[in-house]
Amino acid sequence: MIVMKFGGTSVANFEAITRTIFIIGGKLDQKPVVVVSALSKVTDLLYRISDAAASSDSDLTSQLMQELRTRHVNLASDLLEQSPALKESAVARVNAICDKLESLVNAVCAVGELSDRNKAIIISNGELLSSTIICFAMNAKGIRTNFIDARKMMVTNDEYLKGDPIVEEIEKRVPPIVAEAYKGMDAVITQGFIASNMSGEQTVLGRGGSDYSASLIGMSIDAERIEIWTDVDGVRTADPRTVQNTKYLEKISFEEAAEMAHFGAKVLHPLTIEPAVKKNIPIYVLNSMNPSGKGTAILRNELIEDGVKSVSFKENIKVINIFSMKMINTSGFLRRVFEIFSESKVSVDLISTSEANISVTVDASEKVDAVVAQLSEFAEVIVDEDKSQVSVIGKNIVRLNGMLKKTFAPLKRTNVYMISQGASFVNISFVVDREELTEVVRDLHYHLFEVEEELEQF
Ligand code: ADP
Ligand code: ASP
Ligand code: MG
Repeated sequence: MIVMKFGGTSVANFEAITRTIFIIGGKLDQKPVVVVSALSKVTDLLYRISDAAASSDSDLTSQLMQELRTRHVNLASDLLEQSPALKESAVARVNAICDKLESLVNAVCAVGELSDRNKAIIISNGELLSSTIICFAMNAKGIRTNFIDARKMMVTNDEYLKGDPIVEEIEKRVPPIVAEAYKGMDAVITQGFIASNMSGEQTVLGRGGSDYSASLIGMSIDAERIEIWTDVDGVRTADPRTVQNTKYLEKISFEEAAEMAHFGAKVLHPLTIEPAVKKNIPIYVLNSMNPSGKGTAILRNELIEDGVKSVSFKENIKVINIFSMKMINTSGFLRRVFEIFSESKVSVDLISTSEANISVTVDASEKVDAVVAQLSEFAEVIVDEDKSQVSVIGKNIVRLNGMLKKTFAPLKRTNVYMISQGASFVNISFVVDREELTEVVRDLHYHLFEVEEELEQF
């Protein structure tokens, strides 16, 4: 069996879904478990619907609900034009999902208050709608496809909006559900991103979580491979939206991919790698708009060469600087500091320490007021905002001769605030002013990946 996950752009509209079904149709002999995201931009739309309802803006809420319904009804009708009976059932199903959502949204709008629990229910409708429509469309194309409700098998803790998967439970539930659904079928389809807690209440895995769903399912069924179909030709040396001359990477290690994703490369959800590593399942990142391309293989460490692979970045972070003379030689100081971060559930990215100072970076979206207040009880705390974090990633780069020089040489005129070398030798990260980010990333990419190629051409 294989897992094939299709992201928002791969299921954005009639053309994209037609292409996607064609790709799936070519792999039926490998028994695909298809995992889909919401149509492109639909999860954003659902967030806007939640916000509008929470602020009791009923005009905006119903206007956005209409937009959601029309887009999906039209898509179902277009895809099933040739199969009137299926078209009727699909449109009825889409309308039923939208009706149910609309009554919840209207209730939220009436009270003007939105719990995380209800928000999770609202934002999971994107995946429910897309998977329903694509399931009908696959059947219409002659691929006998069964629908699996991911909420029956993907189980998380009670964090409604960023559920932490309960791996043992998922591993127990997925195989029999998939096996049962596969009986007499050519394929099965389910939703990424959505899950439920142990009491059956709905949760989601957090933004971009469909990759993580695919990987958890792959792990549970011992898949031969996990394919992540997206809108780029595999993993590249940097985000092609920021850097022009990025290069394609034929293969990278699990560890490199995990670090790239963790340090900002949006191409994979940061936790995607973990379940695959557990069972040593290769992940392929492929382009649904160019299906004959080879994509990038993400494989175990031993199969990958040393060397720099990519420049990743996080555009908006905060640096929290903690100063305390008392820190010198007091055991337990660091523990106390990190306990405070952990109790407030603020996740820390980079850390650097000196005798009397610790600096840590956190994502700009983290709420740090409570942490700062507690730290200020025993230390001086300064928070720097509008900073960006840049990471150079590659197997053993920290040990490679001249890598530090190569990394910092292009930054002569840039203020660098904090430098951190990963203990696993895979990354060198540093912090710069947000306004300088684009230039820094482009310069660095040029020096690491483009200049030698230019010289070779002489
Ligand atoms: P999907 O909807 O398929 O999950 P995403 O938008 O989440 O797609 O991820 C794909 C995007 O990731 C690409 O369009 C690209 O802009 C971005 N990206 C960031 N870093 C990289 C990288 N190093 N290599 C390839 N793509 C990257
Ligand atoms: N639809 C969800 C999101 O936009 C999950 C995903 O696409 O991976 O965040
Ligand atoms: Mg994604």
